[in-house]
Amino acid sequence: MARLKQRKATTASSRARAPKAAKKVARSAGTKTAKGWVGVAKSATPRKSTRAAVAPAKSKKPVAKSVKKVVKPSAAKKSPVAGRAGKYTYSFGGGRADGRSEMKNLLGGKGANLAEMAQIGLPVPPGFTITTEVCTHYYASGRKYPATLVDDVKKAMAKVEQIVGKSFGDPANPLLVSVRSGARASMPGMMDTILNLGLNDKTVAGLAHASSNERFAYDSYRRFVQMYGDVVLGLKPESDKEHDPFEVVLDAKKHARGVTGDLELTMQDLKELVTEFKDLILRRTGKPFPENPWDQLWGAIGAVFGSWMNQRAITYRKLYGIPAEWGTAVNVQAMVFGNLGDDCATGVAFTRDPANGNKKFYGEFLVNAQGEDVVAGTRDPQKVTVEASREVALSKGMDEAERVRTVPSLEEVMPQAYKQLRGVADKLERHYRDMQDIEFTIERRTLYMLQTRNGKRTAHAAVKIAVDMVGERLIDRETAVKRVEPSSLDTLLHRQVDAKAQKTLVAKGLPASPGAAAGAVVFSADDAAAAAADGKKTILVRVETSPEDIHGMHAAEGILTARGGATSHAAVVGRGMGKPCVVGCNALHIDYLKGEMTVRDQIIRAGDAITIDGATGAVYLGIVPTVEPTMSGDFEKLMGWADKIRTLKVRANADTPHDAIVAREFGAEGIGLCRTEHMFFEGDRIDAVREMILADNTEGRRRALAKILPMQKDDFKGIFRAMVGLPVTIRLLDPPLHEFIPHTDQEIAELAVKIGIPAEKLKQKRDSLHELNPMLGHRGCRLGVTFPEIYEIQVRAIMEAACELTREKVKVIPEIMIPLVGVLPELAILRELTDNVARAVMNEYRTKVAYTVGTMIEVPRAAIVAREIAGQAEFFSFGTNDLTQMTFGLSRDDAGKFLPEYVERNVYPGDPFVSIDQSGVGFLMERAVSEGRAGRPGLKCGICGEHGGDPASVIFCHKVGLDYVSCSPFRVPVARLAAAHAALGA
Ligand code: PEP
Ligand code: MG
Repeated sequence: MARLKQRKATTASSRARAPKAAKKVARSAGTKTAKGWVGVAKSATPRKSTRAAVAPAKSKKPVAKSVKKVVKPSAAKKSPVAGRAGKYTYSFGGGRADGRSEMKNLLGGKGANLAEMAQIGLPVPPGFTITTEVCTHYYASGRKYPATLVDDVKKAMAKVEQIVGKSFGDPANPLLVSVRSGARASMPGMMDTILNLGLNDKTVAGLAHASSNERFAYDSYRRFVQMYGDVVLGLKPESDKEHDPFEVVLDAKKHARGVTGDLELTMQDLKELVTEFKDLILRRTGKPFPENPWDQLWGAIGAVFGSWMNQRAITYRKLYGIPAEWGTAVNVQAMVFGNLGDDCATGVAFTRDPANGNKKFYGEFLVNAQGEDVVAGTRDPQKVTVEASREVALSKGMDEAERVRTVPSLEEVMPQAYKQLRGVADKLERHYRDMQDIEFTIERRTLYMLQTRNGKRTAHAAVKIAVDMVGERLIDRETAVKRVEPSSLDTLLHRQVDAKAQKTLVAKGLPASPGAAAGAVVFSADDAAAAAADGKKTILVRVETSPEDIHGMHAAEGILTARGGATSHAAVVGRGMGKPCVVGCNALHIDYLKGEMTVRDQIIRAGDAITIDGATGAVYLGIVPTVEPTMSGDFEKLMGWADKIRTLKVRANADTPHDAIVAREFGAEGIGLCRTEHMFFEGDRIDAVREMILADNTEGRRRALAKILPMQKDDFKGIFRAMVGLPVTIRLLDPPLHEFIPHTDQEIAELAVKIGIPAEKLKQKRDSLHELNPMLGHRGCRLGVTFPEIYEIQVRAIMEAACELTREKVKVIPEIMIPLVGVLPELAILRELTDNVARAVMNEYRTKVAYTVGTMIEVPRAAIVAREIAGQAEFFSFGTNDLTQMTFGLSRDDAGKFLPEYVERNVYPGDPFVSIDQSGVGFLMERAVSEGRAGRPGLKCGICGEHGGDPASVIFCHKVGLDYVSCSPFRVPVARLAAAHAALGA
C-alpha cells in the first residue's frame, strides 16, 4: 500500500505544480518508493529539462569534425563555420578579424563574438583566440600543444602589439593582456580568467610611467599576482570555512593601516602587498611567481585549458548536457583599464531586462574598477540608466540629492560614453536579432566592448522577448517559438508566495530569479548538497556565491546572498537554473563560522526555515504558503503559435475531475491515462476495495464491487464532462492487490476492528498476496484475466457514465485501455469481456457510445509482436515507465540504490526513467509503431509514461510518428512547445 499511496501522493504533487520538474518526473516515473528516484533525478540530468532559454545549445558533434574543411582566410565569409586546418590562432582588432560569429564551435562564443564585433566596426581591444581544436589536442595528447602553436601565438601577439603600439614585456611601455576562457556554449564563471598579465617588477614601472599613475600600476600588479597565484598556481582556500588566503593578507594590511577600503591603501602598501603575495605563493605552493611575461602567458593558457576539466566546469557541463569533447577556446586580449581613475568604469548590460523581458536597457557598472568586480558582487554596482538608479533609490528610501551623491547612474556620470554604449547596444541587438548581454570598459571616457552574447534570461523574459521581437519584425513566429526552451516553462509555472498569507518579512534584497522557495537555511554549498541527498529542502545563504558553489546552488531550493547585484554570479546562475534567487540583501550579516545570520536583532541559524520570493526580493521567516502562478498574454500567444506548428497532440495523465480541469486549462487535448486505482483511495472507498480483496469467492467480490461502481461512475462522469468532446483513455486496474491492504500487524489490528474481520484472517490474506517480485507478478491484465469481475465492474462504470452523459448530449469519447499485455490471448479475452459489458450497458440505456478498446505497450514482448496485438487493439499507448523497467531489467522501486552512480560514471548517459533510452526502449517503440500499423493501418499510437513530458522524449515521439504524448497536467505546456520544436526540427 505504501507504494500505491506514493503513486497517489505523486499525483497530488503534480497537481501542486511544484517547481522541480525533474524531481517530480523522477518521483512519479520511478514511482513508487519514497526516496529513491528523487536522488536519481538529481544526480541524473535534472536541469536538462530546464536547459531553457537560458541554456546552451546542444549537439553531440565533436569539435574536430566541424573544422575539417580547408578555407582560405579571405574565404572565411563564404564558409562561415569552418576554420582553416592547422590554423590555431584567430586575430581580431583594428577593424578586422579572422573569424566571425558563426564560428562558435571553433572560437568559442566569446572569441566568435569578439571577432564579429571587430568586423562590424565596434570598439574592441585587439587580441587573438586560440581555438577549441587546441583544447581537444591538449587533452588528447597528454596536455601538450600542437607543434606550431608557440610560433602562432608569437605572431598573433605581434599583431596586437602593432595595433596598440606597445610591446609585450617591454619595461618602458608594456602591453598587458587578459587571458580568458570561452567555450562554444556559455558557462558563466565556470572556467578561469587572468587579467593584467605581463606585469613584473620591471614592467610595473613602465605601466606607472605610461599611465602617469603609480598607484594604479601597483594596484594592477597586486591584483595580477593575486589572480595568478589563485588561478594558475592553485593557491586557494582549503575549505569553504577558510577565507581566501590573499584576502587574509589584504585584510591584515588594511587593519595594520587602520583603513577599511582598498582605495585607502597607499602605493607603498600595495608594493608591500605584491611582495607578501609572492612570498605567500612560494610558501604555500612551493612555486615561485614567474617574472617572465611569456612564462606567465603559457602558464595562464595552460590554466584556462586546464579549467575545462575542473570540477565546477564538469558539474556545469553535466547539468546542461554540454559534451566534454567540445573544449574551450582561450582569448588573449589587450587590456583596457576601468580602474585608472574616476573617468574610468567597467560594467555589464543587457539590451532588455533579463528578469522580465521589458524592453529597457538595463545595466550595472562600477567607477574606477576592473574586470570581474561587477559580476563578483564584492562591491554593490550602480545602475547604468537614470531611471533604474531612481527606482533603486526609491526602494531604499533615498532622496534624489542623496542618490546623485552616492549612486548616480552612468548616464549622469559619463553621458558621452553612455550615449555611445546605448548606440552599440542597439546595433548589437539588431545585428544578432536577440537580446544581448554585453561587457564593457570605459578607459578615460573611451568605450571598449569586451564581450557580447545572447543574454541568459528567465523563462518569463524569454517568452516576452520572443513575442515582442515578432512584433518588432526582428524575428518570425517560428524563430520565436524556437527561442523558448520547452523545459524552461517549468519556471513559468513556479508557485508564488500567497499574497494573502500571514508572513514575517525579515529583509528585502534584489529580485534576481522568480518563484518562491522555502527550506532550511544552509550556509555552504556542501551542506545544501548533503541535505538534498537526504531529501531535505534548503535555501543556500551566502555572502556572495562563486562558481565553487554550483553544486550547492543546484541542490538548494533557492539562493539568497547578502551582496551583489542583478548581474552577480548568484543572479546569473540562479536564473540559468530557474531557481528562485534573491541577491544583494544587505541587511543580512552572515557568520559562516557560527553558522548563523543576523538581521538587525534577529538571529537565524542554520536549519531554521525561511522562504524567499525571487519575484520581489522578499525574505520571510518560516515556510510561507504559496499559490499557483498566473500566465501572461504573451505566454498564450506563443503557445498559440506553437500549437499551429506542432502535429503531435498533447494529452494529460489525470485521475480526477479536478486534474482534468487543470489539464484543460494547460491546453490538454484529452486524457492519455486515467489510472483508475487512484480513485480507490478517495473517502471510504478503500473499505469496499478491501472488502473486495478479502472476499473468498466471486460472489463476495461482486458484492463489494457493487459498492465501488457508483463512486467510480461519478468520477468518470466528472472527467468526461471536463474533457467534453475530447478522448479520455481509462486504464483498467493495474497494481497488484496487496498494495491495497495494510502490512504491519498494528495496521492489520486496526483494520480488523474497523471491518469486523478477525486479524488472523487478514494476516493470512496479506501473506497469501505477498509476492517476491510484485512488479512482475499478479498485476495489470493478469488481474483482469483471473478476476474478471473487477474489470467487468470498471467497464460497466465507464460505460454507464458515458451513456448517461450521451443522453444529456455531452459528447464523450471513452478509450478503454488494458494494461501490461504481453500475449495476444490476454488482450483477446479482455477485449471480449469489455465488448460484452459495453454492449450490455448500451442496451440497458438504449444508447450508443463510440468507445474503443486498446492496450498499453509496456511489456517488451508486446512491442515485438505488435502486429499481432494490433489485431485486437484499436490503439496503443506506450507505458514507458514499465517498458523501461522491463527492457533494462531495472526495478523502478529499487534502482535508486545504484542508478546515481551509474549516471555519475556514465554507465548510463542519463536516467532512463526521465528521458527515453532511444536506442533500446526507443527501438522497441519504433518497431511497435510500424508493426502495429502494419497490422492495423492508421493505428492510433501515444505515450503515457512520464517521458511524455520530457522535451527530448517528446521530440523522439514525434520522430517515430506517435499521434500524441500524455503527461502530468502541469507539463502539458512543456510538451506542447517541445512538440512544436520537434515539428520545426529544432
Ligand atoms: C507506465 O508504465 O508507463 C505507466 C504509465 O503505467 P504505471 O506508471 O502506472 O505503471
Ligand atoms: Mg505501467
